[in-house]
Amino acid sequence: MTAVVLDGKEIAREIEEELRRRINDLSKNGVTPCLAVVIVGDDPASHVYVGAKERACARLGIRSVRVDVAYNADYEEVVSTVKSLNEDPEINGVLVQSPLPSGMDEISITDLIDPIKDVDGFHAQNLGRLVQGDASGLLPCTPAGVMRMLERAKLDLSGKRAVVIGRSRIVGMPLSILLAQRGVDATVTIAHSRTAGMADLCRDADLIVAAVGSPNMITAEWVKPGATVIDVGINRVTDNSEKGYYLTGDVHPDALDIAGALSPVPGGVGPMTIAMLMSNTVRATEMQH
Ligand code: NAD
Repeated sequence: MTAVVLDGKEIAREIEEELRRRINDLSKNGVTPCLAVVIVGDDPASHVYVGAKERACARLGIRSVRVDVAYNADYEEVVSTVKSLNEDPEINGVLVQSPLPSGMDEISITDLIDPIKDVDGFHAQNLGRLVQGDASGLLPCTPAGVMRMLERAKLDLSGKRAVVIGRSRIVGMPLSILLAQRGVDATVTIAHSRTAGMADLCRDADLIVAAVGSPNMITAEWVKPGATVIDVGINRVTDNSEKGYYLTGDVHPDALDIAGALSPVPGGVGPMTIAMLMSNTVRATEMQH
């Protein structure tokens, strides 16, 4: 068997088309969505991600504002930056790019963002709604992107076994809740660094989502023939190329021969995450007007 490749770039393009129509409707009322990205310090990967977000805004006609804060800024400076963006009526979405310099508490900074501008969906109020069974608010972008990808693949997950590997606040945990929610109805196992017998758990699963950050960890032997495999991992592996590295996921390429459908890295969940950020920015703007 050769797996169907779940093309995140293509689905992201479709989402952008739908967003263009909504942005056009907003502009008829004199409103242009605006996303503010706060970046603290000089982490090179953060600059790459922020650049991709800015380019997506430009493609769609969303205004983007980038606020650079020095790596040695104190906590209070980041706090006052977020507060002033909250108060600015021209700004519809605010996110603080992760990672923050060590010692700066990401969760408390996230919780300062006005929940209606929280386009990353990490504020306690937005995550809390999800736990209450309300997925109609601003959802975390990567989990929401995975769900859109599964919907687009017309995968019926009702009563099926899903294994989510990784329990992070930004990917694994919210995605597990979304998969188990009423209407999706998967039976979800959350696996993590202390899980025993991971290969057996995976071999039993109709859906595997890998969100670990460990290159090629999930091999063909872990995959049930015909299962769907979503690879969230993005790993930089050094090599002798001009760039000095290449990107790979958590899933070994040999899983392609066994899985029924598989999302590639790059070109899978990554573009979906950015599309869902754009979607949250438009949604936040609509909610504010
Ligand atoms: P994280 O480090 O916060 O969480 C990793 C999780 O993996 C933890 O819950 C940990 O318990 C689990 N884990 C670690 N070792 C394990 C092992 N041996 N077996 C099973 N579980 C193990 O990372 P994260 O922020 O959730 O990101 C995970 C990966 O997804 C990273 O590669 C990251 O770059 C990528 N990511 C991709 C996107 C995207 O848009 N495609 C978005 C966010 C994160």
